[in-house]
Amino acid sequence: MTESKSKPAVDRSKMSWEEIRAQFPVLHQNVGAHPLAYLDNAASSQMPQSAIDRLMAYQTGEHSNVHRGVHMLSQRATDAFDAAREKVRRFINAGESDECIFTRGATESINLVAYAWGRKFVGEGDEIIVSAMEHHANIVPWQILCQEKGARLRVLPMTDQGVLIVDALDKLLNERTKLLAVTHVSNALGTINPIAEIIEKAHKNNTLVMVDGCQATPHMKVDVQALDADFYAFSGHKMCGPTGVGVLYGKRALLERMNPFLAGGDMIRSVSFEKSTYAPIPHKFEAGTPAILAVVGLGAAIDYLESIGIERIAAREHELLEYATAKFAELDGVRILGTAAHKAAVISFEVEGVHPHDIGTILDTEGVAIRAGHHCAQPVMTRLGVPATARASFSFYNNRQDIDALISALATVKEIFH
Ligand code: PLP
Repeated sequence: MTESKSKPAVDRSKMSWEEIRAQFPVLHQNVGAHPLAYLDNAASSQMPQSAIDRLMAYQTGEHSNVHRGVHMLSQRATDAFDAAREKVRRFINAGESDECIFTRGATESINLVAYAWGRKFVGEGDEIIVSAMEHHANIVPWQILCQEKGARLRVLPMTDQGVLIVDALDKLLNERTKLLAVTHVSNALGTINPIAEIIEKAHKNNTLVMVDGCQATPHMKVDVQALDADFYAFSGHKMCGPTGVGVLYGKRALLERMNPFLAGGDMIRSVSFEKSTYAPIPHKFEAGTPAILAVVGLGAAIDYLESIGIERIAAREHELLEYATAKFAELDGVRILGTAAHKAAVISFEVEGVHPHDIGTILDTEGVAIRAGHHCAQPVMTRLGVPATARASFSFYNNRQDIDALISALATVKEIFH
C-alpha cells in the first residue's frame, strides 16, 4: 500500500479530450436546466477521479502523523508524504526535493520568503521591485516588509496591452535592489511573462527573483533550474489538486541562510529553555503537522497532469483560447483586456454598459461559471482604467461546447441590457 517512487504513471497521452473530461466528476452536473460550463479555472481548478481516489485511499488505509511514529501507519503516511515531495521536485525540475517546501498555498509561500528572507536581508534604503501585473499575494507582503524596514517598493510598468516593459528594468535595477517579485503568468490578463529574460537581468544586478508560478504550473512546463529562479511559488488547487497545499521552491543556499518562518514542532533539531536549534531544510520551514492529505492529493494531481503530458495540455488550452478569442471577435460591444501575443488561456473582458458582476450573474443562469471582479489584482484594474473585469479561464478539460455556452450567454446579457 505504500507509494512507490517509481510507480509507473497511467499513460493518458493518447486519451481523447472527451475521455479526459469524463474523469472530472464535478463537471457533469446541471445548473438549473443548463449543463455546467466551468470557466473559472484560474481561480480554482477541478480534481480528476484518480486524485479523489488517492485521497480516499490515503485516508482509509495510510493516515497517521508523519516523520514521528515507529509504527506501520506512520511509515505509510511518511512514505506517501515523501513521495509527493519527490513528485513536486520532478515536476518543476528542482535539483533536490529538500528545496521544495510544503505550505498552505502560494500566498503562504510568498509570505514565507518576505518574512524569513526579507526580515533578515532587507534594510533601510533597500529596494524591492514588483511588476504592475502582480496578484495582491505578490505585492502586499513586500509592501509590509518595505514599510517595516524603511525600504522602497518600486513598480515594473506594463503597456496598455498588458505586457511588461522589461527594458524598464535597466533603469529600475540598481545596487539597492534586493529582490524582484514577478508573476510567471498574469491571473488577471493571461499574459505569459519572459521570466528567463527577467531573471537574467536581475541576476546581472545581483538581485534575487521571487516568481509567482500559480498560473504557470497548471498550464506549461516549468523548469526552475533552467529559469534559474531563486524562489518559485505555486498552489495545489490551481493544478487539479486539493486546497490547503502549496509549494515554495527555493535554492538550497538561500533557504539555509534564511530565518525560520513559523516555529514549533518538526522544525527544530533541539530545544532547551536557553536555546533552540533548527532542523535542516525543508523541515525548518514546515512547523507543525502538515496538510498530509492535501500533499498526497497534490502528488496524485501531478501524476495526472504528467500522464496527459504538460506540452499536450498547453497545446489543447491554446487551441481553446484561439477558438474563444475568434468567437469574441464576432461580438459587438465586447472588449478583451490583455492582448499580449504570448498568453495563457484567460480572457478578461468587459461588455459595454454592463457591470462585470451583472455579466457573471446572468451567465450563471445559463450554467456558465466565470469570475467577475478585480481578480486580486487591483493595480491592474487601475492601470487599465476599469473597476473590474469579467474573466473566463479555460482548462484542458473544457471543450468548445463550454465556449459556445459562454458566447450564447453573452448574447443574453446583451439582450437584457440593450
Ligand atoms: N498568485 C496568483 C497569480 C494567483 O492567481 C493566485 C490565486 O488566485 C495567488 C497568487 C494566490 O494563490 P492562493 O490563494 O492559492 O494562495
